Amino acid sequence: MKLICIGRNYAAHIDELNNERPEEPVVFIKPDSAVLPKEQDFYIPGFSNDVHYEVEVLVKIKKVGKHIAERYAHKYYDEVGLGIDFTARDLQSKLKEKGLPWEKAKGFDGAAVIGRWVPKEKYPNLNQLRFELKKNGEVVQSGDTGLMLWKVDELIAYVSTFFMLKKGDVIFTGTPAGVGKVASNDYLSGTIEGEELFAITVR
Ligand code: ZN
Repeated sequence: MKLICIGRNYAAHIDELNNERPEEPVVFIKPDSAVLPKEQDFYIPGFSNDVHYEVEVLVKIKKVGKHIAERYAHKYYDEVGLGIDFTARDLQSKLKEKGLPWEKAKGFDGAAVIGRWVPKEKYPNLNQLRFELKKNGEVVQSGDTGLMLWKVDELIAYVSTFFMLKKGDVIFTGTPAGVGKVASNDYLSGTIEGEELFAITVR
């Protein structure tokens, strides 16, 4: 199982990190070992002093496919969810500066939070989902999938031209504005349309 992550998919987040707007989706992969086991706390790794949360809408792939046409992409997933793409921002900035891959900053153990899955039928329009991340009870990120530069089906079509998608793969669709640093004892909870899909404690 692989985690396929999209970077820079919301204009306001691109601006807050002073990144360029990409002409094509920015794609990177996290290994399956990055998944934070259910009910476990997230431990800030020793190699970073600036780990950021990035709340993202997730899609779980249900069957194998490659070169998937956008109009058929909806047949490849039944469930959506919410998670966190934890990022060691200090390390990522160093790697970006040197033009090196981001994996160490994004793919470390526990860096992928995957919340509870929800049947997609529950939502009338996946391109109009409101989602939020709260830190210690206060909203820190608030997103709407309507503001994605590339929508879920476009992402599946794009990504599947490079990587064969397999059952169980998870797509992280990018984070909206409001990313920030976590500290020990922070409590992070995420909702889609007001329903809580994960809650974790930082150590
Ligand atoms: Zn991200």
